Amino acid sequence: MTSRPTVRTYRSARTSGGVGGVVVEVADDGVVQGVLRHQLWSSPTGMQWGFRGQGPRDLARSLLIDATGDLLTCSACHGRGGQAECRSCRGGYTLAVTEEAAFEAEVVSGLGPQWSLTREEICRWREARHAPDATV
Ligand SMILES: [Zn+2]
Repeated sequence: MTSRPTVRTYRSARTSGGVGGVVVEVADDGVVQGVLRHQLWSSPTGMQWGFRGQGPRDLARSLLIDATGDLLTCSACHGRGGQAECRSCRGGYTLAVTEEAAFEAEVVSGLGPQWSLTREEICRWREARHAPDATV
């Protein structure tokens, strides 16, 4: 018997804390699990969306890393790598800077004040753009 895969949803939310009063919530099958972990690379002041910049870049990075599970975790440093500590990754993850930039440009910069994305939508974007078979 196979169980139905969990539907993970990312959505904008307002908060009294956080940076600029906005956070991204993560919900599994509609049950909020917490806020999306900020995978800091470009924007120490937090994640944002709706324009091009460092905040949206970090949201793109954080969404891609979370949505792909452990797929992008660096096998050399097991995700621990600081910005200068590991030569095999950036910040513990082997996410290409081109992919991060493309997701920011094509998806995150176009998000409105209120939005939601599913993990499936993110993975489909990724597969369409970086289909492993495309290099065969
Ligand atoms: Zn590493």
